Amino acid sequence: MNQQYWDKARAFHGHACPGLAIGVKVCEAVVEKMGVSPSFDEELVCITENDACGVDAIQAIMGCTMGKGNLIYRPTGKSGYTFIDRKAGRAMRFYCKVRNSGAMTREAYQEHILNAAVDEIFDCQGVKIPEPEPARIFSTITCEVCGEAASENRMRLQEGKKVCLDCFKEYHRGW
Ligand SMILES: [Zn+2]
Ligand SMILES: [Zn+2]
Repeated sequence: MNQQYWDKARAFHGHACPGLAIGVKVCEAVVEKMGVSPSFDEELVCITENDACGVDAIQAIMGCTMGKGNLIYRPTGKSGYTFIDRKAGRAMRFYCKVRNSGAMTREAYQEHILNAAVDEIFDCQGVKIPEPEPARIFSTITCEVCGEAASENRMRLQEGKKVCLDCFKEYHRGW
């Protein structure tokens, strides 16, 4: 296992857990299979399919973050992570195929993930996917009900009024 990655991830996440171990292992897989180095530029994009502990490892190690726009959340609820190397124009998806059936303790499972070969933990597949849009700047609109400002792409029209998601009646929580 990569001790440096693990230490970095733990410091960022605040605790050690099997989910974080999966995230650390994804980073190892990305470096090994895609030949990229952990970097903090926006050329490497991650599309994560869950918002669990492992995503913190990806942010801490690979520098893919929400704020920079190179961490995209696509909630399928799967343990799947797609990385796009924009410079090289290639993408790979890593799907975690192991699960703890309960036969192992949490700690043993965590150690197993950290120390196994990348291919034992993930299905690694080259994929062709459209490049996500680079982060866009939206203008700000003031909600005509509550008076708070929100970015225009999140606004709704209700009875002819521009309203925010909090004030929009049919708003469903989440996505
Ligand atoms: Zn955790
Ligand atoms: Zn409002």
